[in-house]
Amino acid sequence: MINLDHLNAQQRAAVTAPLGQVLVLAGPGSGKTRVLTQRIAFLIEAMGVRPHNILAVTFTNKAAREMQHRLQSLLGDAAEGVWLGTFHANCARILRREAQYLSFDNNFVIMDSDDQQALVKRAIRELNLDEKLYRPTSIHAAISTAKNNLITPADFPTQSYRDEITKRIYERYQSLLRDSNAVDFDDLLLETVRLLVDNPQVRERYARRFEHILVDEFQDTNLVQYELLKLLASIHGNLFVVGDEDQSIYRWRGADYRNVLRFEEDYPACQKILLEQNYRSTQTVLDAARAVIDRNKHRTRKHLFSERGSGERLVLYEAVDEHAEAAFVVDTIQQWINSGKARGSDFAVMYRTNAQSRLLEEAFLRAGLPYRLVGALRFYGRREVKDLICFLRLVHNPDDEVSLARVINVPPRGVGEKTMVALQLTARQANMTAGQLLIELGEKGEQSPHWGRFSGRSILPLTDFGSLLAGWRRAVADGLSLPGLFDRILLDTAYQEYIDDGSNEGKERWDNVQELRRLAYEFREGGLTAFLENLALVSDQDTLPEEAGNAATLLTLHAAKGLEFRFVFIIGLDEGLLPHARSKDDPEEMAEERRLLYVGITRAKDRVYLVRAHQRSQYGGPEIQEPSRFLEDLPESLIQRQGQRRQRERWESPESRALRTRLFTPSHQQTSAALVEPRFHPTDRVRHPVWGEGIVMESRIQDGDETVDVFFESVGFKRLVASLANLEIL
Ligand code: ATP
Ligand code: MG
Repeated sequence: MINLDHLNAQQRAAVTAPLGQVLVLAGPGSGKTRVLTQRIAFLIEAMGVRPHNILAVTFTNKAAREMQHRLQSLLGDAAEGVWLGTFHANCARILRREAQYLSFDNNFVIMDSDDQQALVKRAIRELNLDEKLYRPTSIHAAISTAKNNLITPADFPTQSYRDEITKRIYERYQSLLRDSNAVDFDDLLLETVRLLVDNPQVRERYARRFEHILVDEFQDTNLVQYELLKLLASIHGNLFVVGDEDQSIYRWRGADYRNVLRFEEDYPACQKILLEQNYRSTQTVLDAARAVIDRNKHRTRKHLFSERGSGERLVLYEAVDEHAEAAFVVDTIQQWINSGKARGSDFAVMYRTNAQSRLLEEAFLRAGLPYRLVGALRFYGRREVKDLICFLRLVHNPDDEVSLARVINVPPRGVGEKTMVALQLTARQANMTAGQLLIELGEKGEQSPHWGRFSGRSILPLTDFGSLLAGWRRAVADGLSLPGLFDRILLDTAYQEYIDDGSNEGKERWDNVQELRRLAYEFREGGLTAFLENLALVSDQDTLPEEAGNAATLLTLHAAKGLEFRFVFIIGLDEGLLPHARSKDDPEEMAEERRLLYVGITRAKDRVYLVRAHQRSQYGGPEIQEPSRFLEDLPESLIQRQGQRRQRERWESPESRALRTRLFTPSHQQTSAALVEPRFHPTDRVRHPVWGEGIVMESRIQDGDETVDVFFESVGFKRLVASLANLEIL
């Protein structure tokens, strides 16, 4: 039974808003997600809408599951049947049902990011292009951007020679996908839009069905998703979207917060509702977050207040280096836990790039503090997990060339590069896919008309693999369950012997296989298709175990969207990390970096720790870091400084600093001149052991150490600590 008393007046207005288009624009923690969930419950219970006439779109599968649980607890079984999931999951569902209208079968596979890269690479190679000139990652990004803007290979704009080449790779990539009966993530959306545009009767069927469409995190929708919403809402026009422009952080994936403006233009009669009370954070956290975001231009300033009290100031900690940064995080968490005022799961540590997690993990391990790392790669990127998924995908769809290439020689059975080429060529000439040919060889053996095409040495491993594949497919057709199939694959390929060599690493690999097996078991009802679909669509957040237990959470700022924690640490608040170096020259990118920090800070209920390091080791040795420019925007009254640098600045006179430096500098580095005068001078030519030759731009004494700015021919501008950098004057 839903009870609207738990909502404030604005929230209630949103939940009970009249039919039509509703746009809820509001800051973090103001209850947008809660309102959306309550709206679904309200539609079903108070308005008598049938669940299967409702489509609700969340940003992650995890968010969808949580919403499902919440609805379950509000309505019980009456909540069954709502189409609830991410855009991708909902689209996959539609495409499977409508395969007759599509250029692929309904058992299509969804290629994950690794597979997509592999296919782009293959397309580049097949076109005899140079991978160094046409880097697969950047070509893949260009293709993805095109798809997100509804651009097919045929319409790909060609203003330069490079565009022309990209277009050709895009075409080739598409045909490789289709040969494998596969789609990529972007295709899920694009193909659904095409399906609905090209087939009015299909469009009408879905548009009639979805009387109500609700979207969370609307600011991070892209153009295709927006078009999709318009198509699906074309009959009933009941669109309920919630979002916050300031939290748009997926521009790199094509998200466009201007969809909010588009929405207002396309639906001038839409009701706009603002929520102003934040229920998550203390006022201090909110004020700090606002100081950061207010610097962004072209935004609606929002007034957010909290009744949770002013709370503690944000801690700004400067560590000596990245090891001390990780140590500070772990020590502080440990202290809180020891004090009995918090438990592990109250903490989240956030960072800009995945690579930053490694030192943190090590520090957590050393301290014996439990943690969980959010990120699809950790589990799904593992070789053994990937192998098994590819076996399963091949059983499901033998046309899947990427999976075939991956596992045909796992464990090694003597299928080399040459045999692979022969297999592909023969298949193409016979108008079959490589997988179909293998199955034929496996089933018919010498009776196969293609048997004679292969050399005596290569035919055996091919028939072996073909008969395995044929056998697995037959078993599935005869009703073998998913866990049964899983075990049979392990057995037939002697996979354990292959992966587990008795070492610790081998044992861990086998554990991962067991973990995947456990997951497969959960899908014993849904079967292979549902299992594979779920795997393909996992996003970072989805790797979070439902129950946090007592572990702290380590995650990127991107993955933190929508979540909340009592204590939030954000590390790496240095120029080049946050904001990321990549965004330096682009104001739009810079604004997005700012939003990332904003999202991070606003995850906190009680306390925020902002952490940075005075110097970090890069490829060529330690480098001095500049504090993130965003730190300058925080009013002193909201922060409490801790750590190395600050103490020195506060307590030390220049004389005492010079003395201390002299005392603590190793004697072999102590030349009296080095303390007062730089050893390097502008225009000096220098050599660095890793970066080679460069020219000194500037040099100064800072904190008793000489800091040199050098422009290297190889890597460009670097700031170095002279005593550590091993620079040689030429
Ligand atoms: P974000 O922008 O970060 O996604 P949001 O606007 O979706 O945030 P929610 O996650 O829905 O906000 O709500 C934030 C927190 O406040 C949640 O813990 C939620 O349960 C709580 N909350 C929201 N509204 C109320 C209310 N009226 N009374 C009590 N708690 C509330
Ligand atoms: Mg939310």
